[in-house]
Amino acid sequence: MSAELTPHQLRVLRMVSQGLTHAQIAAELYVTPKGLTAAVNRIHAKLGAINAPHAVLLACQAGILDGRPRRHGDHAGYEAHRRRGEDPSKCEPCRLGERAHRQAMRNRNDPNQEAA
Ligand SMILES: [Zn+2]
Repeated sequence: MSAELTPHQLRVLRMVSQGLTHAQIAAELYVTPKGLTAAVNRIHAKLGAINAPHAVLLACQAGILDGRPRRHGDHAGYEAHRRRGEDPSKCEPCRLGERAHRQAMRNRNDPNQEAA
C-alpha cells in the first residue's frame, strides 16, 4: 500500500464491500458520480487493486476491513471510530451517544447536579 486511505476513502470502500452501487454511494455521500469514480480510482491505486472485488480482498487481508459488525451509538462506538482513523462526529448515533456519555460524566463529577 502506497499510502493510508483517508476517512472518506475508507467509507467508500466499506460501502463498496457492502454491495452498494456507485449511484447509491454517490447519493449517500453527497458526491457526484465523477467524484466517486475518482475516489474509487484513488482507493484502487493506494491498495494496488485492479477492480472492486480485488480492492475489498486486499483491504481485508491488510486488516483495513474485517467484515465484523460495528458498534455504534455509545462511547465505545465513538472511540472505535477514532481507532479506525475515522471522524466519529460524522456518525450521528455515535455523536449523540458520546454527548450523552460526556453529560453523564459531568453530572457524576458535579455533586450539585442530579444524575440524568
Ligand atoms: Zn458510529
